Amino acid sequence: MANKTKFQAIKGTRDLLPPETELWNRVEQTAREVFGTFGFGEIRLPIFEPTELFARAVGGETDIVSKEMYSFEDRQRQFPDLDDLGKLEEFLLAVEDAYKTGEIPQTPWNKGMIERVRLAFNSFRDTRDELNAMSEPSMEKFQEYAHYSFSASHWAHLTKLGDEISLRPEATASVCRAYIEHGMHALAQPVKLYYVGPMFRRERPQKGRYRQFYQIGAEVLEAITPNTDATKSLGKDAAVDAEVIEMVMVYFARLGLEGVVLDINSIGHSAPECRRGYVEKLKAALEKVKDKLGEDSKRRIETNPLRVLDSKLESEQAIIEKLPRIGDHLCADCAKHYAELKRQLELRGVAYRENWRLVRGLDYYMRTTFEITARGLGSQNAVCGGGRYDGLVELLGGAPTKGIGFAIGEDRVILSLQEAKKAVASGDPDQVGAGRRVASGKSGCDVYVAWMGKTAEATAIRAARDLRQAGFRVELPPVEQKFGKALGQADKLGARYALILGEDEVASGEWTLKTLADGTQGKVRGAELVAYLRGKK
Ligand code: ATP
Ligand code: MG
Repeated sequence: MANKTKFQAIKGTRDLLPPETELWNRVEQTAREVFGTFGFGEIRLPIFEPTELFARAVGGETDIVSKEMYSFEDRQRQFPDLDDLGKLEEFLLAVEDAYKTGEIPQTPWNKGMIERVRLAFNSFRDTRDELNAMSEPSMEKFQEYAHYSFSASHWAHLTKLGDEISLRPEATASVCRAYIEHGMHALAQPVKLYYVGPMFRRERPQKGRYRQFYQIGAEVLEAITPNTDATKSLGKDAAVDAEVIEMVMVYFARLGLEGVVLDINSIGHSAPECRRGYVEKLKAALEKVKDKLGEDSKRRIETNPLRVLDSKLESEQAIIEKLPRIGDHLCADCAKHYAELKRQLELRGVAYRENWRLVRGLDYYMRTTFEITARGLGSQNAVCGGGRYDGLVELLGGAPTKGIGFAIGEDRVILSLQEAKKAVASGDPDQVGAGRRVASGKSGCDVYVAWMGKTAEATAIRAARDLRQAGFRVELPPVEQKFGKALGQADKLGARYALILGEDEVASGEWTLKTLADGTQGKVRGAELVAYLRGKK
């Protein structure tokens, strides 16, 4: 019997189909245009990287790294099956060789494991030989034999036979890795890069939350030259931050995204006189109200107290409002930077809302953090998150470097645009602006070429070629159709015109052109068709 398994896209992933992909392309193309005007160039990055890169850059304690990454072992070669005790020696020889050639990770861990397998295996082999030589095998010898075989196979299982690799859950880590790898500190600074592409996180799928989703992001990286006066460059940093935020806002405005709200905050820097001091105060305050907090927040008092501020739990809101605020505990430099950021945003006409509860949990995040929300998305309404991360490049092995960047959730931008379009269709006056701009999506066909007869076929092929060269979207049926059927098909495709080519048209050179919207038709000279349609565009 035929196998009738129906394959389906894996949970949390989805196909994007035409005509929706037109909107995706427009959203991406607009990003390229807008970011280009701000001097950003595109970087294309690998989809997978060493797990360790994300563990370091995103943080081993975060949900993303600890629970949500798609990780796997990438083996360079096949090894004999360990379930078969008879293949233990073959396995050991292969692993010893692969360690030498670097086909398995040359780590202290692997070195230790392989030595243990070797020792246990040698003893295993010796006891086996002894057992074989005994006319009456002793129980002790047999136990010894079992013990060594167990040990050898135990250590063998613990040997890492490949590199730990993960599908990228975000791209900032990769951009920083690439900045270091290609020595971009030697280029004119700052280096401004943007990227577009899929990210992967094992989250619970719901509206606006997928396991494969798409981000459009950008980063500004700048090598810190020795002897720069950190306090003096605060103003410059704030201007860079403001321009990056302005760029996202200009982009969203160009897309016609509705209900866009920008939240900003400063989270200071990790020194004791700044954020670290604040976190201590926050912890103490949280300890006092511990009994009234939910389980997650209770746990976070120890692991990541800043994250408590993020809580959406209704019962915690009143408590959180009374907690100490980072804004009151910033050091002089961070306070100056934050004031300058706000002034810079005002200079650029960028409206913002201060949100002291906007935080990032990792040490190297500093000063500017921002988040942008949009309409039509329910509780998953964040369309962009960003911030300053001086120190990340250094953490990844590079020289001291400043960084600021953001990531836009493209899926959510698209959803919001689609919601606005729906609202227009249903007459919600609040949303008309966006919908108009979104609705400019074109139909799939300009001209349907209806033809009948051998001589008409050659003319139709030529007409289609000329029209396509002129940029029109043309549908040319592969076999002749009765004109009635052809017109029905043209209608279904939403074509604007049907070009009708029969024996008469070919003979006279006067082609029939039917406008499908109103059903009118007239004659156009074949040679003039392209010019005629261009005039109608
Ligand atoms: P959220 O709080 O919504 O989970 P996040 O803090 O995890 O967002 P970031 O890591 O800052 O998000 O990523 C930036 C943007 O990417 C988010 O604002 C959102 O628009 C989008 N995003 C993040 N995770 C997903 C996902 N699983 N599916 C779709 N979009 C996502
Ligand atoms: Mg998330």
